[in-house]
Amino acid sequence: MARGRDAHQARLGAVAALGKNLSRRASSRCELCEGDEDLRVMEVPPVDEDPDEDAAILACRLCREDIDSKKLYDLARLRFLETAMWSETAPAQVAAVRLLRRVAEREDWAREALDGLWLDEDMQARVDAT
Ligand SMILES: [Zn+2]
Repeated sequence: MARGRDAHQARLGAVAALGKNLSRRASSRCELCEGDEDLRVMEVPPVDEDPDEDAAILACRLCREDIDSKKLYDLARLRFLETAMWSETAPAQVAAVRLLRRVAEREDWAREALDGLWLDEDMQARVDAT
């Protein structure tokens, strides 16, 4: 379906166009681990029809892979989530808490971090919504 593909391409373009503002917000660092390898815009669901900075983060290659993949390989690398889960950037906090929940299935430190986390109702609902 040409139309579907065109719409998909248009959306990818609009998402990429957020990069400039997100780079400024994030000081050109990954908004989760502060790495700087191959930074790209990644949407954080739920997303609206039009891509929005409030539902997107700037993320490095490793973080994008962890978010997208079913299996997490390097759990020790993910210790930065203990800091990232307190991010004042809402979509970064949402992405960090979701990833941390997956780590918590296997790691005590992640369970303890989540036990110490407090989210207001709105953030809780955002984290739970996918
Ligand atoms: Zn990263």
